[in-house]
Amino acid sequence: MTSWPSDTPSSLWMSLSREKFEAPALKGETCADVVVIGGGISGLSTALELVHRGNRVIVLEAVRVGYGASGRANGQVISALTRHGPDAIRKVWPGERGERFIQLVKGAADQLYDLIERYGIDCDARRTGWLQPAHTPGRLKRVAGLAAQWAAVGAPTGAVSAEAISARLGTGAYCGGWEHRGGGHINPYAFTCGLARAAVSEGVVVFENSPALRLIRDGGDWIVETAGGRIHAPKIVLTTAAYSGDLWPELTRSIVPVTSYQAATDPLGALADTILPNDEAASDTRMDLRYFRKDREGRLISGGALAIQAGAARRLPAMVARRLGQMFPALAERPMTSFWGGGIAMTMDRLPRLYRRGDGIYAWIGCNGRGLALACAMGPVMADAVEGVPDEKLALMPTTPSTVPFHAFVSRFARLILPWYRFRDSREV
Ligand SMILES: Cc1cc2nc3c(=O)[nH]c(=O)nc-3n(C[C@H](O)[C@H](O)[C@H](O)COP(=O)(O)OP(=O)(O)OC[C@H]3O[C@@H](n4cnc5c(N)ncnc54)[C@H](O)[C@@H]3O)c2cc1C
Repeated sequence: MTSWPSDTPSSLWMSLSREKFEAPALKGETCADVVVIGGGISGLSTALELVHRGNRVIVLEAVRVGYGASGRANGQVISALTRHGPDAIRKVWPGERGERFIQLVKGAADQLYDLIERYGIDCDARRTGWLQPAHTPGRLKRVAGLAAQWAAVGAPTGAVSAEAISARLGTGAYCGGWEHRGGGHINPYAFTCGLARAAVSEGVVVFENSPALRLIRDGGDWIVETAGGRIHAPKIVLTTAAYSGDLWPELTRSIVPVTSYQAATDPLGALADTILPNDEAASDTRMDLRYFRKDREGRLISGGALAIQAGAARRLPAMVARRLGQMFPALAERPMTSFWGGGIAMTMDRLPRLYRRGDGIYAWIGCNGRGLALACAMGPVMADAVEGVPDEKLALMPTTPSTVPFHAFVSRFARLILPWYRFRDSREV
């Protein structure tokens, strides 16, 4: 398992969460039909779906449920890919395959909010919509096209004028944008804990503090070994995302893990009513993305990445505060009082992947920073794959991992591309 820098403490979401979840560590020998490795939203939604279909399912989590990106995200629920609108998806995956994937993405937020409703998950869920403001007229043209493409496949999207975006964000920093009315925001840690509670209520067995250390072939089955026990199972699903270690080295080498940091103000009081007055979530069009949303107590939560990570706990909140102050002058000088970070699994083409080995091991990976809703939608797809649904019927075609060229180098230095992104953002028209 990949360990993360000690300057990425637990998220604010943990202290705000009313959902709590605890499970024991694995001890001794047991068996299951499927072992899911990774207690984030991907693992839990897969486990929930598999147990509904009559499988005996065990989830192993190395630390605690929600320890990974699922408990550390900004919490924006986004039911669209923005690098790839439907037209671009059809170019990569022509025919039925692309259409199925488009429908999967389109329905992803519905799946997330359905889970919240079905299991009464207490995660401050708001379905107030998601906005992508454009930072240049060129980007505005592009996002208007994206809004039209998603609307053409039935998504509740549309272009938003400069005046409207300014009123809805509370800043005149953008020249228009687009909206997805099916999106919104959640406390992602609370959602993940609630999902774990739901999975257990349906019969899934969860073990925390139980990193899977080795996968051992045992005839036609697998033995998953932890420090305290072993599980015998014919099938394994890896949902370890950016935290993947060496259980399946090719999986780890198929992505670039990137650390993204979050910072939050203290509750803004009456000022909160002037920023995002409709309580939407917003992520802009910059390559070095700027995004923000409020929590239930009126904090503004934003974030970003750093080219050089040394001193992140000091430098990142200062950078976020400066950016927010540029957009919302009333926030100038406002300190960021919470800071945390997490790992994002990036693929080279920014599209997710479903991997399958012939020996009963499966994985999906590549959330590219937009995975909360997608992870909910991928649960049923992973269950289909595990249960042998024909490939042509799956929303994401199973493939085998291909290694990112110069993986070790790229993983170490990928973030050094940030200054180039910032330069491009500043020069765009
Ligand atoms: C800072 C940040 C902000 C983000 N903001 C957003 C957002 O606003 N909207 C959005 O849609 N997406 C966002 N994302 C992305 C989103 O959080 C992820 O796509 C999603 O949570 C991925 O869930 P997951 O279950 O696949 O992975 P994770 O939640 O990362 O779970 C992987 C788990 O695997 C466990 N694990 C690893 N190795 C082992 C092992 N050997 N044995 C047992 N367990 C193991 C880890 O401990 C971890 O808990 C953000 C991500 C980050 C980091």
